[in-house]
Amino acid sequence: MRYGVIADIHANLAAFEAVLADLGEVDALWCLGDLVGYGPDPNECIELLRRYNHLCVMGNHDMAAIGRLDTADFNPEAAQAISWTTSQLTESSRLYLAALPERLVAEPFTLVHGSPRSPIWEYITNEMRAAANFGQYSTPACLVGHTHVPALYVQPSPGESVLGRVPAPGDSVEVGRARLIANPGGVGQPRDGDPRAAYAIYDTDSGILEWHRVEYPIRVTQQRMRDLGLPRRLIERLAFGW
Ligand code: ZN
Repeated sequence: MRYGVIADIHANLAAFEAVLADLGEVDALWCLGDLVGYGPDPNECIELLRRYNHLCVMGNHDMAAIGRLDTADFNPEAAQAISWTTSQLTESSRLYLAALPERLVAEPFTLVHGSPRSPIWEYITNEMRAAANFGQYSTPACLVGHTHVPALYVQPSPGESVLGRVPAPGDSVEVGRARLIANPGGVGQPRDGDPRAAYAIYDTDSGILEWHRVEYPIRVTQQRMRDLGLPRRLIERLAFGW
């Protein structure tokens, strides 16, 4: 079986479509949350995901867009984009987001948006944060999103220190050898200085999780955002992968 691992689509339809085209045929998509927020096409992205056999967990932007999370902790542009998103969501999209679980298990992975310890909010940005989370899930591996930066944290054996790195496109890891936490990077708003959409593929035949990048027409998304009056900073950052 072949699984597409995607996170932080953030209503960027052009990026999502490019990832799906690059993925080719998959048995299912595993989506790590933040389907909406920031970008111009929330309903379209939800509808497109729903056409696939998929699993999806809830992200902080998904939760905020349905009014279940206060945007006081969001930066001003993110909060503005959330209130715009809320006004745009169809009833069907709203119900879909409201039903998303915070945590799922798809062996050999646990799926969460932020971290297994705090699925909605915690950012796993370094080895220390990762280490604190290894005891918070029981599967061999855990998939997270939220930072919009590809990452791999491995604990060679229980009690040993955690080693982290930023996987480059084409890098891979064999799942099941050592416990690990992996982040595919962000589809719709990458933040590692590479504006290309990020994702990963998990192949059950080889047991390999592999990181990928693909270009998408950034200008199409930016123009849509300009037409809709979304914040300028959110439009500009897409070109820089920041
Ligand atoms: Zn996000």
